[in-house]
Amino acid sequence: MTTEPQFPRIALIGLGLIGSSIARAVRQLGLAGELVVTDASPEVRARAVELQLGHRVADTNADAVTDADLVIACVPVGICAKVAQDIGGHLKPGAIVSDVGSVKGSVLRAMAPHLPQTVHFIPAHPVAGTENSGPDAGFAELFINRWCILTPPEGADTAAVERLTVFWRTLGANVEVMTAEHHDLVLAVTSHLPHLIAYTIVGTADELEDVTRSEVLKFSAGGFRDFTRIAASDPTMWRDVFLSNKDAVLEMLGAFQEDLSKLTRAIRRGDGEVLFDQFTRTRAIRRGIVNLGQETASPDFGRPHAPLPKTDDETDE
Ligand code: NAP
Repeated sequence: MTTEPQFPRIALIGLGLIGSSIARAVRQLGLAGELVVTDASPEVRARAVELQLGHRVADTNADAVTDADLVIACVPVGICAKVAQDIGGHLKPGAIVSDVGSVKGSVLRAMAPHLPQTVHFIPAHPVAGTENSGPDAGFAELFINRWCILTPPEGADTAAVERLTVFWRTLGANVEVMTAEHHDLVLAVTSHLPHLIAYTIVGTADELEDVTRSEVLKFSAGGFRDFTRIAASDPTMWRDVFLSNKDAVLEMLGAFQEDLSKLTRAIRRGDGEVLFDQFTRTRAIRRGIVNLGQETASPDFGRPHAPLPKTDDETDE
């Protein structure tokens, strides 16, 4: 399916999972008269040429954004300031500049000072991803039925916010607008804390001396493997997320530690009622996520299960 171009020229900086997914969707849908893409890594730029991620692969961030009407930085949060420095002097007046970072307050503070007043800076966060990185990991359908949160600074141009909203909706996302501070608090509990917990559990299991590493892997279907998907996420990206959203993560971590202590006490005292009540409450939350279409209703995340082998009786029939 192709639609009318929404922007004469779009520039994407950083061609990992998110940047290459946007690139694929923009090309498939025909959303840019010209799509210019770039990445800091020469290997990634070469791969972008092979994968035809853009109409043109630029060698530098400054070259990529020249004359672009929409610029999206798809780089780790800790790199956003550098990218803003690279592009600040090369942006077309009236251009929309955005990003996809998982933290919004720090991105706003890092990028805004380097951008001219003549552009519309509207940070964004598509709440969609996988544990994979790099230009080969992306796919055009990544954003379908996922949320994209826009965090325009106070006084942002409403027409520019609307254009970016339409862009993300065309990629299949549902769009919500909120402040950067609110985004960072919400995502601290829905995304950042779960990642920290997964990184911790997988690390803890790896270090246990009385359970061998091979047993951890062998019996992982008992729950462990579902944490390993999250704990396999990109180390650079997640290091930057925790350094950039320190306050909100620490606040949520405090609440989590209190709740964990409550459950620890219940186990120690043999208080089954506390455990049962908590587990009943959390089961309902999963049903709510499924009902909102944010997760499959299939058991075991829809993993295929091999059929039982046929018995001799059945083979005879
Ligand atoms: P990724 O797969 O690691 O890709 C990031 C790309 O940016 C890499 O190719 C990297 O090149 C490149 N890059 C680094 N510094 C650069 C620079 N100065 N100029 C141009 N390119 C540069 O990461 P990702 O998963 O797409 O994440 C990108 C952003 O999306 C992050 O801010 C993350 O918080 C956000 N996000 C991620 C997810 C997710 O699930 N992955 C979901 C939502 C939002 P090198 O490899 O050479 O460093």
